[in-house]
Amino acid sequence: MRRILWFRRDLRVTDNPLLSLEGEVLPIFIFDTNILNKLPKDDRRVTYIFEQVIRLKSSLQSLGLDLKIFYGDPVEIFKLLEREGFDEVAASGDYDSYAKARDTKVSMILPFNALHDTYIFKPEEVVKDDGTPYLVFTPFYNRARSLFDKAHLRHYTPGKQTLLAAHYEEITEIKESTERALPLTLQSLGFNENKPEITSLELKLSALEKKLPAYAKERDYPALDATSNLSPELRFGMLGIRELLRFLAEQKKRGIDTEPFFRQLVFRDFYACLLYHFPELAWKNHRYPFNGIEDQERFEAFCESRTGVPIIDAGIRQLLATGRMHNRVRMVCASFFTKDLLLPWQWGEKFFAQHLLDYDAASNILSWQWSAGTGIDPQPYFRIFNPWLQAKKFDKEALYIKMWVPELVTLDAKQIHDERFMLSYRIENYPGPMVVHKEAANKALEYFKKRMAEGVEHA
Ligand SMILES: Cc1cc2nc3c(=O)[nH]c(=O)nc-3n(C[C@H](O)[C@H](O)[C@H](O)COP(=O)(O)OP(=O)(O)OC[C@H]3O[C@@H](n4cnc5c(N)ncnc54)[C@H](O)[C@@H]3O)c2cc1C
Repeated sequence: MRRILWFRRDLRVTDNPLLSLEGEVLPIFIFDTNILNKLPKDDRRVTYIFEQVIRLKSSLQSLGLDLKIFYGDPVEIFKLLEREGFDEVAASGDYDSYAKARDTKVSMILPFNALHDTYIFKPEEVVKDDGTPYLVFTPFYNRARSLFDKAHLRHYTPGKQTLLAAHYEEITEIKESTERALPLTLQSLGFNENKPEITSLELKLSALEKKLPAYAKERDYPALDATSNLSPELRFGMLGIRELLRFLAEQKKRGIDTEPFFRQLVFRDFYACLLYHFPELAWKNHRYPFNGIEDQERFEAFCESRTGVPIIDAGIRQLLATGRMHNRVRMVCASFFTKDLLLPWQWGEKFFAQHLLDYDAASNILSWQWSAGTGIDPQPYFRIFNPWLQAKKFDKEALYIKMWVPELVTLDAKQIHDERFMLSYRIENYPGPMVVHKEAANKALEYFKKRMAEGVEHA
């Protein structure tokens, strides 16, 4: 059997189903021009992925294999590869709309062997008794828990593989059916280095061991380093989900309550499952016809962290500076965006997508729909976060806010969390709040009621 092993969201050699297949293999990675052409030249994710691909290449070399790196349109690349007489292309499932459409096109060129790797469950595994997908998280979670067993912890061992002769030293660019060798550098892809600050996977896992016992209690506080920070490694598969689950099983044996952390991993599965079954959710509201109101000025103030609402501006600054944002702050920002500012959730989703290091279509899109109250369980549209109270509750000493908004360091936390004070007090180089929360929330409620009364579904 001659196989192409296509690495995508599984940039690792440990416990990788691709490496358990036997026979002659050509391991490949594609820098996809359909994606890269839309990114700014200093996108930090490209530097990050490039480094991970080079690391994968060297890990494969130490197994006696290698990685051929392509640059171009996957469909065009597979059309050329098909001429070399392969039996199949094997790849782990990737379920967003672009990935699904791309894989369908590739499967028309070569037999496509889709393996299960990225998530805990296969997309058809956690479904209702009648075989239809769950739309609500809690029943999905309960079902997931009841189905979860040892098989989900399976460890894939390497199969007997021999490497096919090929040129592995350069990047192979494919353009208009012509092949060109490029030096193995980030600059060959037209990108400049922009290295995100990131702790090693080993350190993150050993830190997680210490964080787990207090995870449920502390995970909502952005000034604490209480969460795993593993989302980028999970997104690109440097850490396999099964390895993380086995790590959790070990902690559980030691008497640690791992359920709250497991629940978040199931959330990741739930969102992937929703987008798999309902690809139109990428652009279309789940249920309610809340489109928001397009307002460029408001949008720019949000994206440039000039809202005058400290927790929001802190979150956006963290995002722009690091590519990361704490989950609680993501929730507060997305609520402020779609409710207080009444902007279309799709705009916010796109903005996050441009900057998040862990950007994942399913988690981002469905979280934005949840925040916008478009019908994704369990958030009723009329529940509107008060960003001032959220900040007071989850960043009581304003430590997170002061870290990212140094203009406020001389103020007391109490003043920072007091909307009335912030509306009346002039701060050098920092604007007053652009909306009054109660007024904005009432306006949003009126808008939602009106849209509901109009009864337009799936606007
Ligand atoms: C508006 C909004 C947009 C988001 N966009 C993304 C995104 O593009 N990519 C992304 O990975 N997550 C996204 N999330 C979910 C969540 O914020 C991040 O997964 C989390 O902050 C990552 O930090 P962590 O690894 O320390 O998480 P931990 O708390 O340590 O959780 C462990 C893992 O569970 C998963 N997870 C945790 N919370 C969630 C959640 N609410 N939904 C789905 N998966 C979760 C992640 O893979 C995470 O790494 C978004 C949330 C919101 C509210």
